[in-house]
Amino acid sequence: MDIVDLHVHSTASDGSLTPRELVAEAKAQGLRALALTDHDTIDGLAEAIAAGIEFDLEVIPGIEISARHEPGSMHILGYFLDYRSQLLASRLQVLQQARAERNPQIVAKLQKLGMNITLAEVARASGGGQVGRPHIAQVLVQKGYVASFQEAFERYIGNHGPAYVSKFRFPPQEAIALIRAAGGVAGLAHPFTLEYTSVGHLRHILEQLQSWGLAALEVYYPEHTPERTELYRQLAKELGLLMTGGSDYHGDIKPEIRLGQLGSGQTIGYEFVARLKAQAGEGTKA
Ligand SMILES: [Zn+2]
Ligand SMILES: [Zn+2]
Repeated sequence: MDIVDLHVHSTASDGSLTPRELVAEAKAQGLRALALTDHDTIDGLAEAIAAGIEFDLEVIPGIEISARHEPGSMHILGYFLDYRSQLLASRLQVLQQARAERNPQIVAKLQKLGMNITLAEVARASGGGQVGRPHIAQVLVQKGYVASFQEAFERYIGNHGPAYVSKFRFPPQEAIALIRAAGGVAGLAHPFTLEYTSVGHLRHILEQLQSWGLAALEVYYPEHTPERTELYRQLAKELGLLMTGGSDYHGDIKPEIRLGQLGSGQTIGYEFVARLKAQAGEGTKA
């Protein structure tokens, strides 16, 4: 089988499988290569690479960085990173620090609103991985303050809720530059989450990102309709961006998503990896 998956999360961010378990699962599913792209962290990469050697599966060291964008969200994927880069580690530390400071601020706001919730309870709900708003929502549901995750976000911790604390993000040019400085290839994940208003608007954003060094576009993705996939394929072609595809696998957290399955029976093969590999390291050249 010639199937690869270029967008996957482990317990190093918000996935349910450890990097090693993920590689073992990919091997069991018959994949040929896998890119580990955890949110804002490279902490899982050393384990994934070692597991790749153990299970004889190609593991591409990657990342998914959340960049500043309104009104939707912009996620920048990085591939073939030098995950031992000191610069990368220290810049990502800034994001981890901001994340660590954000949760106590949200919990403090909820306490002020009269809710009995502690940071320790939230940390317990996370099961040891990154802690974030979904875990806070989980505790609010458990304690009966809200009936569902959705209600927790709508009434309290969502972007317009009274306990919302804005998240620190890198500007897109910095996320791209950071990936390139670490020898990686930068791509835009799931373009529809940008909430662009027209094709022209999307093209404009892509051209801007490209001027900062963006080299790839995630064309194949489970939530892309055939129309979206066709549009993104056309734009990638027109702008000279490489195409990528990934499942955004998170394990049990999104049980309907399977490794290597990109929606409507779509899969992609090794040539997608080969094209990215040929681009790797371009950003470190003078
Ligand atoms: Zn994403
Ligand atoms: Zn993702």
